[in-house]
Amino acid sequence: MSAPDPTALQQALRGQVIPPGHPAYDDSRAIWNGMIDRRPWAIARCIGTADIQACLRYALEHDLPFTVRGGGHNIAGLAVADDALMIDLSGMRGAWVNRGAGTVRVQPGATLGDIDRETQLHGLAAVLGFVSNTGATGLTLGGGFGYLTREYGWTCDNVTSAELVTAEGRLVRASETENADLFWGLRGGGGNFGIVAGMDHKLYPVGPEIVGGLIAWKAEDADAVLEMFRNVTVNAPRELTCAALMRKAPPAPWLPPEMHGQPIVGIVLCHSGPVEQAEADVSAIIHHGSPVGSVVQRRSYVSQQSILDATQPNGRRYYWKSEYLPGLDSDLLRSYRDYGERIESPHSAILLFQVGGAVADLPEDHSPMGNRDARYVLNITASWEGAEEDERHIGWARDAWASMRGFSTGGTYVNFLTEDDGIDRIRDAYGAHYDRLVEVKTRWDPANVFNANKNIAPR
Ligand SMILES: Cc1cc2nc3c(=O)[nH]c(=O)nc-3n(C[C@H](O)[C@H](O)[C@H](O)COP(=O)(O)OP(=O)(O)OC[C@H]3O[C@@H](n4cnc5c(N)ncnc54)[C@H](O)[C@@H]3O)c2cc1C
Repeated sequence: MSAPDPTALQQALRGQVIPPGHPAYDDSRAIWNGMIDRRPWAIARCIGTADIQACLRYALEHDLPFTVRGGGHNIAGLAVADDALMIDLSGMRGAWVNRGAGTVRVQPGATLGDIDRETQLHGLAAVLGFVSNTGATGLTLGGGFGYLTREYGWTCDNVTSAELVTAEGRLVRASETENADLFWGLRGGGGNFGIVAGMDHKLYPVGPEIVGGLIAWKAEDADAVLEMFRNVTVNAPRELTCAALMRKAPPAPWLPPEMHGQPIVGIVLCHSGPVEQAEADVSAIIHHGSPVGSVVQRRSYVSQQSILDATQPNGRRYYWKSEYLPGLDSDLLRSYRDYGERIESPHSAILLFQVGGAVADLPEDHSPMGNRDARYVLNITASWEGAEEDERHIGWARDAWASMRGFSTGGTYVNFLTEDDGIDRIRDAYGAHYDRLVEVKTRWDPANVFNANKNIAPR
């Protein structure tokens, strides 16, 4: 076996190989979470499925560890490792609508925004997440949820088929009728089974105009706002999805300057039904108390899908803790408010995303994503600028989590797990499905070549 050599890999690819020292190396190894600073052996920018297959074969032949990068948004930094080949799919961003089938074929580097832009040309949407620069395939492989989840289920519930390169370097399809065990595992089991080269997602009529946006109140009103949030979300039609957030007010033009930097409580919402109905359904929220600002209005679905983008720039330092919740217990809401008011960083937040609805229509074992008893997702998101502040903000997130985790369903979202979340948290994410995932892993990747992920070890 020859020593691995980026020039030799280049000869096997149509896309570019970027070794250390190349002018594009530092930009290409950087990912969303600025806490992650790793130096890969080289970065291979794949332009097609044949490049993916060639990269995998090269890595296996040369015993070279490798990672897979889609949108680069995984908080644990799974996309990049020291001395490993980064198989970079971020240039493969196609999204092609098949109107007849009611689906969209998604390439593995497509972001949520790439897909919405194409599907909205047809007045259609896939079930995606809340921030448009997130990689769609990474999100889907871990489960996925967003504004349309209450109507149509987890993102992975809406995948109809996938094409992937397996541990043997074979290109296979997985669907309900082809390699059904693999198809089951792909819908939540992450990158454990192969490198996905394309996925088909179901589409639904949404927009182009919807009612959505953000509304905020002073943090001193948090108790009443959270009580209202609980009542509204328990009774909301499936077309309406809300998330509560507490943070310091950003210097956004829709918030008065005297509020900037002050603690606020807010609700981000999206109603995907007819706009007249939507305006009636959101009335209890927009007429609650004395908001300090609101941009809840008729707007394009595409603008709604990027409304939180500015809060999540590339390169800042991030640390999260997360749990699924069965409901909003009053004691939980008290802790939520206390830690929300105690936020020190201008960028940190605590979010309560509403889920439930269609998620609970399917049987628990429909896919390893499971967690169909979840009604809310708690996400404690610390975010700050400098390494010297790591301890302070990570400490806040951990303390907040310690005070609220007792209200969890016991489940957690695999895509929100950080670098320091180990096997016990992976087991929490999959619950009773973990053992079945091990079986599928043992069949499709017995040597665990796909290990740069939240790993399911084969038997
Ligand atoms: C700002 C932000 C907002 C988010 N919002 C949401 C949200 O609203 N809803 C939600 O559900 N999640 C959300 N997430 C979580 C998100 O789903 C995960 O971070 C996910 O891992 C992102 O995928 P990516 O392709 O961008 O990540 P990457 O870091 O590129 O990839 C992560 C890992 O996924 C696997 N992977 C990715 N692509 C492939 C592939 N083609 N084949 C095989 N394995 C692959 C690999 O193991 C890879 O290392 C958000 C994350 C961030 C940072």
